[in-house]
Amino acid sequence: MSSFVLKGDICYSENATTLHTLQGGYLVCAEGSSLGCFESLPGLYQDWPVYDYSNKLIIPGLVDLHTHAPQFTFRGLGTDLELLEWLNAYTFPEEARYRDLAYAEPNYQAVVRNFVAGPNTRVVIFASAHTEATLLLMDQMEQSGLVSYVGRVNMDRNAPDSLREADAEVSLQATREWLVAAAGRYRRTYPILTPRFVPCCTNALMNGIAKLQGEWNIPVQSHLAETLKEIEWVKELNPGCRHNADVFVNAGLLGGAATIMAHCVWCDEDETRVLKQSGAFIAHCPQSNANISSGIAPIRRYMREGLNVGLASDVAGGMQTSIFRAIADAVVVSKLRWRLVDTGDMPLTFAEAFYLATIGGGAFFGRVGSFRPGYEFDALVLDDEAFSTSRTVTLAERLERFAYLSDDRHIAQKYVRGEALFAPAST
Ligand SMILES: [Zn+2]
Repeated sequence: MSSFVLKGDICYSENATTLHTLQGGYLVCAEGSSLGCFESLPGLYQDWPVYDYSNKLIIPGLVDLHTHAPQFTFRGLGTDLELLEWLNAYTFPEEARYRDLAYAEPNYQAVVRNFVAGPNTRVVIFASAHTEATLLLMDQMEQSGLVSYVGRVNMDRNAPDSLREADAEVSLQATREWLVAAAGRYRRTYPILTPRFVPCCTNALMNGIAKLQGEWNIPVQSHLAETLKEIEWVKELNPGCRHNADVFVNAGLLGGAATIMAHCVWCDEDETRVLKQSGAFIAHCPQSNANISSGIAPIRRYMREGLNVGLASDVAGGMQTSIFRAIADAVVVSKLRWRLVDTGDMPLTFAEAFYLATIGGGAFFGRVGSFRPGYEFDALVLDDEAFSTSRTVTLAERLERFAYLSDDRHIAQKYVRGEALFAPAST
């Protein structure tokens, strides 16, 4: 790790509504952390190496709060189905194959290569219900240079025999063994407890996961209120519960630990209150929610009420891993919600969606998603030459166009905790 300076056109979120921009500015990194941005280089750093990215955009790395690595193989398939049918037709049969490490290895290599090439510097991942393959994925994520949380999935009911764990105790014992095997093995890859979703987890399993959470003090991720059918099913399986969040609260799983709940499309007022009180992060998955007809999450309402929200790809419900695509989709679906569902909730602006993609999700990892002094130094250098226009555009407008028009080929350099992932630039 080293200390250096980047020169270029810098953009990051000042707050949820405002972008801070600095043309031809200097961004200083010291041992993996940002020391801030400057119009001219302070004398203190005159002798530090300067990487000159003049006329390129420099922004914080993007954060994917929710994706499924074993589902990478069938991205773009099955989008004619709703969630529960889609799980049975595509997801469960595919995930069952990860019992076989010879199958898992090249497929996990492919997804990790994709993550490295793209704009996301932090990823929170569901693996499968297989200890060995999950450790293999964690090994590969560690080597990638990205920072991630990876979860070995728990599921002891309502799944095919090829994937379902025999009972709660079998699932919990395997989880303990996985945590022991992962302990002390990585410096940027962290375990996260992963009960798949309430229909796949008995109360005994949920209670046991809460106990493990207490013992190991690690975060938890799951899916919540994704579709109306799922919510009805949860009420049948857990008579007396008012909503999904009740089941987690009753198990002791919402409140103590850092938690990510994916989707949260259909949370009512009470469930929203429970999520807010717990400090849970909502992983907003706009592309997946559209693909499998789940609905449009009320992100404007969650932001207004002060909940933690980040963006997510949810591959393979979503087909694109890039959080640039999630930014564009979050804005698009918010317009449909405003037009078709609730005219009281204004659409998200580009600046708000960019905030969710950086600081919003980054907060789950700590001080991540900004160039303010003290933030971890995750940065992207973006070459937007291909999108130059005869119009006069501001720096913020260049970033907006990049988010909508670019692909991975336009990323010139990528830093995670101050380490460059691509071949070094010349000073
Ligand atoms: Zn998911």
